[in-house]
Amino acid sequence: MADHRDDAPEAYRELLDQYERLTALGGAQGVLSWDQQVMMPEGGNPARSKQLSTLSGLNHDLMTADVVADSLDELEDADLTDEQAAVVREIERQYVRAERVPRDLVEEISQTSSEALQAWEEARENDDFETFAPYLEKLVELKREYAEHIDDERDPYAVLFEDYEPYIDLETAERVLGRLRGELVPLIEEIQASDADLATPFEGETFDPDAQEAFSRDVLDAVGYDWDRGRLDTSTHPFTSGNQFDTRITTRFSEEEPLDSMMSTVHEFGHALYNLGLPREEYGTPLGEDRDLTVHESQSRLWENHVGRSQAFWERFAPTLREQFPSLADATARDVYEAANQVYPDNLIRVEADELTYHMHIVLRFEIERGLISGDLDVSEVPEVWDDKMEEYLGVRPETDTEGCLQDIHWSHGNFGYFPTYSLGSVLAAQLYAHAERDIDDLDAKVAEGDFDALHEWLSERVHRHGCRYTTPELVEEATGEAYTADYFLDYAKSKFGELYDL
Ligand code: ZN
Repeated sequence: MADHRDDAPEAYRELLDQYERLTALGGAQGVLSWDQQVMMPEGGNPARSKQLSTLSGLNHDLMTADVVADSLDELEDADLTDEQAAVVREIERQYVRAERVPRDLVEEISQTSSEALQAWEEARENDDFETFAPYLEKLVELKREYAEHIDDERDPYAVLFEDYEPYIDLETAERVLGRLRGELVPLIEEIQASDADLATPFEGETFDPDAQEAFSRDVLDAVGYDWDRGRLDTSTHPFTSGNQFDTRITTRFSEEEPLDSMMSTVHEFGHALYNLGLPREEYGTPLGEDRDLTVHESQSRLWENHVGRSQAFWERFAPTLREQFPSLADATARDVYEAANQVYPDNLIRVEADELTYHMHIVLRFEIERGLISGDLDVSEVPEVWDDKMEEYLGVRPETDTEGCLQDIHWSHGNFGYFPTYSLGSVLAAQLYAHAERDIDDLDAKVAEGDFDALHEWLSERVHRHGCRYTTPELVEEATGEAYTADYFLDYAKSKFGELYDL
């Protein structure tokens, strides 16, 4: 296949040169920020925040430089191949967003977020929403202003949402989340009413973090994490960071909840596999970059939920588990499978939620942040609306704001529009996995044997290797031959939990 750099117009090559610098700079920011969360001694912060904000400023300068504007201008009527057009589409989208927002406003948002983060930490510590409220108000205002600069004709929430998912439109997102709410609430109620008794092999025991780490490493070996291009560390919040040459994951260990850390390791592995599967020869161009948050989250959820929370997976790993943890000597694959799929609607915390109720946590946040950005909801109303919705969707009411509207970090960063991508990604994971099951002979049996090669190949072929070549809806079409839909997720949820809970 011809390289998109061959015979390209001069302007195209200049644009790519600049983008290569931007990618390198972004990668350096990524490593500094990984270090900050994983390795850096606490005292390093004052210098590190200056380093990071300097690089952000440089990044903005490179993105909005004349060479970018002029090249894009010149390429507007150029005769480009499909690949070249995709590259230009992606760079132009980033350029427009960077160029339309005044630097002052970007800096004010960044400054306010730093202050808001501190206020949020304090508010959360003391269960005092009032401490955080003025910062949240300010961030809502600034983000509305930010959206208006980008496009003052459209719903500002739709514009903000595009920072995280640029190509699935807000109507589609809203329709999917509406379906999840409509169909999962009754399912969760049925589960609550069921007297099925799921196994709880982990209950009442504690589990040595070193043994947990050894188990995580065994699992990562078996599912095919490339240690020459990756590493596993611990951090407060598990995350994945890197590119096709070096993608690192983190996890955390709780002595009481070893399954949490195992599942979160498998989740981050899914993110890492995606990054590591991006085409190496395209590093520095949009064709070598991930297709944003929905697709990224589809990869992590596919491994976490469809592989890691399957009975087949535990057929393969229950023996390893029994070896590492003597207290689990009698646990069968079915026992662990049941434990990994317990539904507990009385849980208040999103990051601890099960696979089903998780989405109600997202729907609630989506509805609240939409209200905040549109102005229909006032910041002062957030705690009560939050609690009311928890009661309506999950039948449980938080007693404190720390366990309610103060639990997540996202709004203190001003990240309005981020949350929906978690659910949209889960929905896509189900669609992709259903197609992988159709295409791969006996995928379930392969998982039970620890043979993941066919799945790796399927994901690489259908998703990873494309980078940003396609928009999200195009990529879904390309991978599955059909449009993005929540059908597969809802079928999967009803059949899996129907069987587990005798519905
Ligand atoms: Zn994730």
